[in-house]
Amino acid sequence: MKVSLITHTPNPEKIIAASARLCYSDSEIDELLNNLDAKKSAELVSRLIKMGHESTIEHVTFTFGIEGVSRSLLAQITRHRMASFSVQSQRYVRGDNFQFVIPPEIESSSRAKQIYLEAMENDIKSYNEITDILIDKHLEDLISQGMDEKKAKPKAEKMAIEDARFVLPNASHTKMIATFNARSLLNFFSLRCCNRAQWEIKSVADEMLKICIAIAPTVFKSAGPGCVRGACPEGTMTCGKISEVRRYYKELTDGD
Ligand SMILES: Cc1cc2nc3c(=O)[nH]c(=O)nc-3n(C[C@H](O)[C@H](O)[C@H](O)COP(=O)(O)OP(=O)(O)OC[C@H]3O[C@@H](n4cnc5c(N)ncnc54)[C@H](O)[C@@H]3O)c2cc1C
Repeated sequence: MKVSLITHTPNPEKIIAASARLCYSDSEIDELLNNLDAKKSAELVSRLIKMGHESTIEHVTFTFGIEGVSRSLLAQITRHRMASFSVQSQRYVRGDNFQFVIPPEIESSSRAKQIYLEAMENDIKSYNEITDILIDKHLEDLISQGMDEKKAKPKAEKMAIEDARFVLPNASHTKMIATFNARSLLNFFSLRCCNRAQWEIKSVADEMLKICIAIAPTVFKSAGPGCVRGACPEGTMTCGKISEVRRYYKELTDGD
């Protein structure tokens, strides 16, 4: 799994502070920006976060590259509607010799891992066989419809992999570019840094949070699962490890 920062809004905390000041000031925007240094911006951002004046932090966005994650993760992360995603297509990119995620619990059991690897091998074998059968079928149809062979070949392959991909597993690697604004990120971290989230999306969320803290430390100072800011919101479903979780995120956000 690889999470990288592609880009982010420059001077994020200054932009947030200026947008908040603008609401209550008759100054020109240039003047507002010129009167804000890093310290003043951080103080104002801290107050805004405490007050819950969160629309101002929507002005700041972060764009991440996320690679080597499973299609299971894809289904979970794209439920976050307040983010934008571009995802590698299995309709256009042929999946033979595909790579896949091995969940740590499966990795740690030699018998489970053996069954898992056999399943992956069978999947790719089926995928390749179905692709080849469908390519032949589509090629024949396209040529009989009058298309010349040079044009028909890539079209037949595209049509074949569109259907063959149905046998590919949830474990298949995928990659995406994802853009979140800072408010959406705070919500994302609340839900996905929680121990109740699945290990894979939690790892991605933790990596994203580390990146965000380095860039906008005041915005993300209290970021993380709900229990870092108060009682555990999971009720009876709590992981029961609140002290441990709070310590982990305090160290992360304090930069210890
Ligand atoms: C531990 C865990 C288990 C889960 N299990 C399941 C499951 O079993 N089945 C399942 O289907 N999903 C499941 N989910 C997904 C979950 O229900 C959410 O779809 C997902 O976490 C996205 O959260 P969100 O809606 O807050 O984020 P976003 O879509 O990014 O929305 C952000 C916020 O914007 C507001 N918002 C967005 N859209 C609307 C809208 N249409 N109307 C009003 N307000 C809106 C809400 O305040 C929302 O919190 C699970 C999530 C977690 C963390």
